[in-house]
Amino acid sequence: MDHRPYLQETLRLAREAQTQGSAPVGAVLVNEHGDIIARGRNRVGEAQTPQHVGDASVAHAEMDLYFQIGKLKDPQHLTLYTSLEPCLMCGGASALLGVRRIVWATDDPWGGSGRLIKWADHPAMQDTDVIPTPDADLEHEGAQLFAPEAKRAFPDEGWQLWRQRYPQETEGVDEADARRPPEH
Ligand SMILES: [Zn+2]
Repeated sequence: MDHRPYLQETLRLAREAQTQGSAPVGAVLVNEHGDIIARGRNRVGEAQTPQHVGDASVAHAEMDLYFQIGKLKDPQHLTLYTSLEPCLMCGGASALLGVRRIVWATDDPWGGSGRLIKWADHPAMQDTDVIPTPDADLEHEGAQLFAPEAKRAFPDEGWQLWRQRYPQETEGVDEADARRPPEH
Protein backbone atom coordinates (compact mmCIF):
# COMPACT_ATOMS: atom_id res chain seq x y z
CA MET A 1 0.00 0.00 0.00
CA ASP A 2 1.26 3.46 -0.90
CA HIS A 3 1.25 5.46 2.32
CA ARG A 4 1.79 8.84 0.70
CA PRO A 5 -1.78 9.92 -0.26
CA TYR A 6 -3.10 9.00 3.19
CA LEU A 7 -0.33 10.85 4.99
CA GLN A 8 -0.99 13.85 2.74
CA GLU A 9 -4.63 13.76 3.80
CA THR A 10 -3.60 13.74 7.49
CA LEU A 11 -1.47 16.82 6.82
CA ARG A 12 -4.40 18.53 5.11
CA LEU A 13 -6.56 17.84 8.18
CA ALA A 14 -3.73 19.08 10.42
CA ARG A 15 -3.73 22.41 8.57
CA GLU A 16 -7.50 22.60 8.88
CA ALA A 17 -7.17 22.12 12.66
CA GLN A 18 -4.58 24.88 12.82
CA THR A 19 -6.85 27.22 10.87
CA GLN A 20 -9.60 26.59 13.43
CA GLY A 21 -7.36 27.37 16.39
CA SER A 22 -6.49 23.81 17.41
CA ALA A 23 -3.17 21.96 17.27
CA PRO A 24 -2.05 20.92 13.77
CA VAL A 25 -2.63 17.15 13.88
CA GLY A 26 -4.79 15.05 11.56
CA ALA A 27 -5.67 11.35 11.23
CA VAL A 28 -7.46 9.01 8.82
CA LEU A 29 -8.56 5.40 9.12
CA VAL A 30 -8.19 3.23 6.00
CA ASN A 31 -9.73 -0.18 5.27
CA GLU A 32 -8.23 -3.13 3.40
CA HIS A 33 -9.47 -1.75 0.06
CA GLY A 34 -7.61 1.50 0.57
CA ASP A 35 -10.77 3.50 1.30
CA ILE A 36 -10.70 6.23 3.93
CA ILE A 37 -13.55 5.32 6.32
CA ALA A 38 -13.03 8.07 8.90
CA ARG A 39 -11.24 11.39 9.27
CA GLY A 40 -10.26 13.19 12.44
CA ARG A 41 -8.37 16.21 13.51
CA ASN A 42 -7.30 17.92 16.69
CA ARG A 43 -10.08 20.06 18.25
CA VAL A 44 -8.46 21.05 21.55
CA GLY A 45 -8.90 24.78 20.83
CA GLU A 46 -12.50 24.58 19.62
CA ALA A 47 -15.92 24.42 21.24
CA GLN A 48 -17.65 21.16 22.03
CA THR A 49 -20.37 20.26 19.50
CA PRO A 50 -22.88 17.38 19.27
CA GLN A 51 -20.70 15.91 16.50
CA HIS A 52 -17.25 16.44 17.98
CA VAL A 53 -15.45 16.38 21.29
CA GLY A 54 -13.89 19.78 21.63
CA ASP A 55 -12.63 22.21 24.24
CA ALA A 56 -10.89 19.35 26.02
CA SER A 57 -7.26 18.40 26.39
CA VAL A 58 -8.07 14.91 25.12
CA ALA A 59 -9.69 16.15 21.87
CA HIS A 60 -6.87 14.68 19.81
CA ALA A 61 -7.21 13.83 16.11
CA GLU A 62 -7.34 10.07 16.71
CA MET A 63 -9.97 10.36 19.46
CA ASP A 64 -12.06 12.61 17.18
CA LEU A 65 -11.87 9.87 14.55
CA TYR A 66 -12.73 7.00 16.91
CA PHE A 67 -15.68 8.83 18.48
CA GLN A 68 -17.09 9.49 15.02
CA ILE A 69 -16.83 5.94 13.79
CA GLY A 70 -18.22 4.27 16.91
CA LYS A 71 -17.70 0.51 17.04
CA LEU A 72 -14.98 -0.71 14.72
CA LYS A 73 -15.69 -3.57 12.34
CA ASP A 74 -12.79 -5.80 11.35
CA PRO A 75 -10.12 -3.68 13.04
CA GLN A 76 -7.54 -6.27 12.00
CA HIS A 77 -7.86 -4.91 8.44
CA LEU A 78 -7.59 -1.24 9.38
CA THR A 79 -4.66 1.16 9.17
CA LEU A 80 -4.54 4.40 11.13
CA TYR A 81 -2.58 7.19 9.50
CA THR A 82 -1.59 10.25 11.51
CA SER A 83 0.37 13.39 10.74
CA LEU A 84 2.20 13.07 14.07
CA GLU A 85 3.29 10.09 16.16
CA PRO A 86 0.32 9.27 18.44
CA CYS A 87 0.53 10.04 22.14
CA LEU A 88 0.16 7.31 24.75
CA MET A 89 -3.62 7.83 24.96
CA CYS A 90 -4.25 7.62 21.21
CA GLY A 91 -1.68 4.93 20.54
CA GLY A 92 -3.10 2.93 23.43
CA ALA A 93 -6.68 3.38 22.21
CA SER A 94 -5.66 2.20 18.72
CA ALA A 95 -3.92 -0.87 20.05
CA LEU A 96 -6.77 -1.74 22.42
CA LEU A 97 -9.23 -1.46 19.52
CA GLY A 98 -7.07 -3.94 17.62
CA VAL A 99 -6.17 -1.64 14.72
CA ARG A 100 -3.76 -3.59 12.55
CA ARG A 101 -1.30 -0.89 11.69
CA ILE A 102 -0.35 2.66 12.61
CA VAL A 103 1.61 4.85 10.21
CA TRP A 104 2.70 8.40 11.00
CA ALA A 105 4.32 11.15 8.97
CA THR A 106 6.47 12.76 11.67
CA ASP A 107 7.94 11.62 14.97
CA ASP A 108 7.01 13.43 18.17
CA PRO A 109 10.09 12.97 20.36
CA TRP A 110 8.32 14.60 23.34
CA GLY A 111 4.62 13.71 23.20
CA GLY A 112 4.80 10.54 21.10
CA SER A 113 4.18 7.20 22.73
CA GLY A 114 7.35 5.67 21.33
CA ARG A 115 9.38 7.58 23.89
CA LEU A 116 7.35 6.07 26.72
CA ILE A 117 6.73 2.48 25.73
CA LYS A 118 8.00 -0.07 23.31
CA TRP A 119 4.77 -1.08 21.64
CA ALA A 120 5.60 -4.72 21.15
CA ASP A 121 6.46 -5.15 24.84
CA HIS A 122 2.85 -4.60 25.91
CA PRO A 123 0.87 -7.88 26.05
CA ALA A 124 -2.34 -6.30 24.65
CA MET A 125 -0.56 -4.52 21.82
CA GLN A 126 1.07 -7.41 20.01
CA ASP A 127 -1.19 -7.20 16.97
CA THR A 128 -0.57 -3.60 15.99
CA ASP A 129 2.29 -2.89 13.62
CA VAL A 130 3.94 0.50 13.79
CA ILE A 131 5.42 2.20 10.73
CA PRO A 132 7.07 5.52 11.63
CA THR A 133 7.94 8.18 9.04
CA PRO A 134 7.91 6.16 5.78
CA ASP A 135 8.11 9.26 3.55
CA ALA A 136 11.03 11.67 4.07
CA ASP A 137 9.37 14.61 2.27
CA LEU A 138 6.17 14.35 4.31
CA GLU A 139 8.13 13.82 7.52
CA HIS A 140 9.87 17.13 6.83
CA GLU A 141 6.57 18.83 6.00
CA GLY A 142 4.91 17.48 9.15
CA ALA A 143 7.81 18.54 11.36
CA GLN A 144 7.72 22.07 9.96
CA LEU A 145 3.97 22.23 10.48
CA PHE A 146 4.06 21.06 14.10
CA ALA A 147 7.30 22.73 15.25
CA PRO A 148 5.67 26.04 16.37
CA GLU A 149 3.12 24.07 18.41
CA ALA A 150 5.92 22.00 19.98
CA LYS A 151 7.65 25.20 21.02
CA ARG A 152 4.44 26.80 22.31
CA ALA A 153 2.89 23.82 24.08
CA PHE A 154 5.77 21.70 25.34
CA PRO A 155 8.06 22.42 28.28
CA ASP A 156 11.58 23.39 27.35
CA GLU A 157 12.75 19.80 27.82
CA GLY A 158 10.28 18.74 25.12
CA TRP A 159 11.25 21.55 22.80
CA GLN A 160 14.92 20.57 23.16
CA LEU A 161 14.06 17.03 22.09
CA TRP A 162 12.33 18.48 19.04
CA ARG A 163 15.36 20.59 18.22
CA GLN A 164 17.62 17.54 18.45
CA ARG A 165 15.32 15.35 16.38
CA TYR A 166 14.43 17.99 13.76
CA PRO A 167 17.21 20.62 13.79
CA GLN A 168 16.42 21.91 10.30
CA GLU A 169 12.64 22.11 10.74
CA THR A 170 12.80 23.79 14.15
CA GLU A 171 15.45 26.33 13.25
CA GLY A 172 13.17 28.97 11.76
CA VAL A 173 10.47 28.83 14.44
CA ASP A 174 9.70 32.36 15.47
CA GLU A 175 9.59 32.74 19.24
CA ALA A 176 6.95 35.45 19.37
CA ASP A 177 4.68 33.56 17.01
CA ALA A 178 5.21 30.32 18.88
CA ARG A 179 4.22 31.93 22.18
CA ARG A 180 0.95 33.23 20.78
CA PRO A 181 -1.87 31.23 22.42
CA PRO A 182 -4.16 29.36 20.04
CA GLU A 183 -7.18 31.37 18.87
CA HIS A 184 -10.53 30.25 20.15
ZN1 LIG B 1 -3.21 11.73 21.32
